[in-house]
Amino acid sequence: MPEYEAIIGLETHIQLNTQSKIFCACKADSWGAEPNTNICPVCTGLPGVLPTLNRQAVEKAILLASAMQAESIQPLSFFARKNYFYPDLPKGYQISQYDEPLARGGRFDLPLPSGECRRVTIHKLHLEEDAGKTVHAGGRRLIDFNRCGVPLVEMVTGPDLRSAEEAAFYLIRLRQLLRWLGISEADMERGHLRCDGNVSIRVPGETVLNPKTEIKNVNSIDALREAIAAEISRQIREVEAGRPIRPWTLEWDETTGTLRKMRSKETEADYRYFREPDLLPLRVDEAWKARVLAQLPELPLARRQRFVEQYGLPAYDAEILTEERSLSDYFESAVAAYGGEPKAVSNWMMNDVLRLLRERGLSAGELKLRPADLAQIIQLVDKRQINAPTGKALLDMVEETGQRPADLVAREGLGQVADTGALRALAEAVLAESPDQVAAFRAGKATLIGWFVGQLMRKSGGKADPNLARQVLEALLHEPAG
Ligand SMILES: [Zn+2]
Repeated sequence: MPEYEAIIGLETHIQLNTQSKIFCACKADSWGAEPNTNICPVCTGLPGVLPTLNRQAVEKAILLASAMQAESIQPLSFFARKNYFYPDLPKGYQISQYDEPLARGGRFDLPLPSGECRRVTIHKLHLEEDAGKTVHAGGRRLIDFNRCGVPLVEMVTGPDLRSAEEAAFYLIRLRQLLRWLGISEADMERGHLRCDGNVSIRVPGETVLNPKTEIKNVNSIDALREAIAAEISRQIREVEAGRPIRPWTLEWDETTGTLRKMRSKETEADYRYFREPDLLPLRVDEAWKARVLAQLPELPLARRQRFVEQYGLPAYDAEILTEERSLSDYFESAVAAYGGEPKAVSNWMMNDVLRLLRERGLSAGELKLRPADLAQIIQLVDKRQINAPTGKALLDMVEETGQRPADLVAREGLGQVADTGALRALAEAVLAESPDQVAAFRAGKATLIGWFVGQLMRKSGGKADPNLARQVLEALLHEPAG
């Protein structure tokens, strides 16, 4: 049986997080709103109205194009009408871009777990408006126009991905980038990031592209992975049985985990595109582009690389700390405030700050525990003014009270007990209470030392210096009995 390789391209629709819709003043985000409450004559396509292009939508699309290393952000692009009839498309056409899109050519480098890097090419990137939503309920079709006119960027990749897993990685990285740039919430469950997959198979080494199918209606990364894997298996079965692959559009049914044929695929000719006569050409001059691109942040992969080179972090730490932009900013601020070894800050962040974020459902930018507070806590532990468990507890205390760590240590009396006299008194009390364990230790059960240290820590209210406590206990236990 010949082996096959999968050829996958993805078409993504990204909802931009602008204040208003792309051609009118309605709020862009209708999440949770009652149906048909966030609409106006423009976005419902009443006669005699004119669209006005939202500048913010253009700027966010330019940022994305540049982050995708577009070969050109077109100084002049045009809007077009894409004509089709569907109940949730009130105008009977969607305003989109067609032959002259905002940006052409680009690439997205995708690090794979194998260590390889997959270069995904981007064919074109354009702006368009969203259509409404059709809801099937009780045997009826209900239409909600709230989503009409929400700004979208459509981005189409080349047939560069080779497995369902790679397609999932692409979406994960794209989602990270969109949030990093601050241009979309990129929440797939809410439809901010939608993805259709084009799938075909061929014998490895062949260069032809066989007929492909298009998978629609996947609304999570897991669903995309499963749907593509199922479609690859189906195509292999068909080809093995000598049947041709037809260019169908398939719909993923998440509840049953199966693909259903929706329709034979439309061709572009079916949409009868023509230039949108109600909008001027979109001119992006050099000055505007430069102003927009001045806001382009360092991108995730570049920052990950820099964390390894500049701070000497292991690749694993750098990967986790650059998963989200505010986390990576937090790390850098904490390192600067701390002044010591960056790896120490990384350890505290990876173990303790991430736990805090998970438990409280916050992002690093939302913490009351500031980077300078984390730096101060690490310094207090370094100087042995507090012990490590107190340091960890302090993270939560600062987060809850918003007070500075050193003030909390002073006010709550959290300072480490590192005074030998005080520790010796505590150690004597522990030994006096535990004659059996003392006898066992002296009879050779040396591992009991850990138990004694635990008892002393408890007596000190967790504030004893554990290393010093151990030394004091060992000295007492090794004294001749009596
Ligand atoms: Zn409107």
